[in-house]
Amino acid sequence: MTTPTASPARIYDLLIVGGGVNGAGIARDAVGRGASVLLVEQDDLASYTSSSSTKLIHGGLRYLEYYEFRLVREALMERERLLKMAPHIMWPLRFVLPHSKLVRPAWMLKAGLFLYDHLASNMTLPKSRGIDFRTHSSGAALKPEYTKGFVYSDGWVQDSRLVVLNAMDAAERGADVRTRTRLIAASRANGVWEATLEDRATGKTTTVRAKALVNAAGPWVARLLADTLKIPNSKSVRLVKGSHIIVPRVYEGPQAYIFQNPDKRIVFAIPYEQKFTLIGTTDIPWKQEPGKVEIAPDEVSYLCESVNRYLNVQVKESDVVWSYAGLRPLYDDASANASAVTRDYVLDLDTQDGAPLLSIFGGKITTYRKLAEHALEKLAPVLPAVGGQSWTAQEVLPGGDLGDGGFDQALARLRRTAPWLPEGLAWRLMRNYGSRTYEIIGEANSMQDMGEVLGGDLTSREVDYLISREWARTAEDVLWRRSKLGLHLNDAEKANVEAYVGKKLA
Ligand SMILES: Cc1cc2nc3c(=O)[nH]c(=O)nc-3n(C[C@H](O)[C@H](O)[C@H](O)COP(=O)(O)OP(=O)(O)OC[C@H]3O[C@@H](n4cnc5c(N)ncnc54)[C@H](O)[C@@H]3O)c2cc1C
Repeated sequence: MTTPTASPARIYDLLIVGGGVNGAGIARDAVGRGASVLLVEQDDLASYTSSSSTKLIHGGLRYLEYYEFRLVREALMERERLLKMAPHIMWPLRFVLPHSKLVRPAWMLKAGLFLYDHLASNMTLPKSRGIDFRTHSSGAALKPEYTKGFVYSDGWVQDSRLVVLNAMDAAERGADVRTRTRLIAASRANGVWEATLEDRATGKTTTVRAKALVNAAGPWVARLLADTLKIPNSKSVRLVKGSHIIVPRVYEGPQAYIFQNPDKRIVFAIPYEQKFTLIGTTDIPWKQEPGKVEIAPDEVSYLCESVNRYLNVQVKESDVVWSYAGLRPLYDDASANASAVTRDYVLDLDTQDGAPLLSIFGGKITTYRKLAEHALEKLAPVLPAVGGQSWTAQEVLPGGDLGDGGFDQALARLRRTAPWLPEGLAWRLMRNYGSRTYEIIGEANSMQDMGEVLGGDLTSREVDYLISREWARTAEDVLWRRSKLGLHLNDAEKANVEAYVGKKLA
């Protein structure tokens, strides 16, 4: 390791630690209010919890059982806003909830759904209603003993792309975003933060200064406070692992299912990447260090059993083609049960020595934008640079300006402009990049112009864009976070992508 370089004269308004959804969201909001912002992420953007979610933009129907009305109301309002802000990477989904006599009575489900439909005003998604599986198309996938249920609305999000789009927007508005850069030390000196950053690729360290520090380190929030900053804090984080399995598609139709388990938990089955079904999740208390986590065999069995109780087609452990797991960094409200720990967030502001430190405990993907607004409102009295008007509710994320007619019309226009793009590729580009697809295509007039085909329909032109505009640095960034092409490409094709990215960055 080299010695830190001398402190540069520049003092950022805000140094944000953590390139998950919360850090990226705060960076975007703050820079848009005129603050100077440096965001550091120790790995790739969304390397941890923010790429491991169930990928729902939802109010959280089940949180009503824990009386989390504030959270559910805020999340329902955010659901509507986010669907407008990034209609390329988010879309509405209908959820089918079979009634099972063994779990909750039908009247309770009905009451919960009524509340869910009415807790927030001006909701545009279709409301819930009762259905008969003997006549409704969603019943075809279910065992015959399930005859009645409900259908309600929520939304889907490509979680890691949401993080990247927030970071991109922040950078385009002037934020300094550094990935693979870890905060290894920071202390207050003369009313500002002096922080040491380590470049993970070279081991080189640099010193930066900032008026305020935001600790958006997710699962590391408490460790960053105690070990890196050496600041005592009474609040703590509860790490709860959640895992998902992906199997070849087990039912037809665009609907997702929400299945109730005898342990009172719920498990989702969701259409995924056209050919697959995503099944999750679990709630396993995690006492070890934060970091990369994996699904355990008993979680796989639990998830298979949970869906097999309801579905005609039985899912076997051997059907699993991919799995992922993440750690929920929940605010520790001392609940005895991991499923009952609050999913709401808590913002802790420490203003010692005139250099504010804001730590984020908990949160959901769904509420990240509102969390960012609250974070800046909390900081504004001690950091006037972020005191400007809130603005993010009205501004689309990069690529989200799809124009009249939304996604379908934007796709139709792309097909007219670039008729040489194969239909599936045009759809995939529009779903991932929205209007930024035109930046990827550039002057290309044929598939040959899109460069080398690295695997499936992934071309070198798309990878170049991910490297130059979206901070992709490895094949894993490209295949598993900027996209989910890792599910569709074979090993030789993945090796091609790795070789290409390596060559490009050499
Ligand atoms: C299984 C599961 C399912 C979920 N499902 C949903 C869902 O369907 N809908 C929903 O709304 N929410 C869901 N959530 C919740 C949601 O995913 C999280 O609340 C959210 O992603 C947390 O984001 P974050 O930015 O706080 O943390 P993270 O995404 O973990 O980001 C923190 C970042 O800080 C970085 N970092 C840490 N220390 C340092 C350092 N010293 N220097 C630099 N960088 C550092 C880490 O590398 C990390 O990338 C789910 C969570 C889980 C685990």
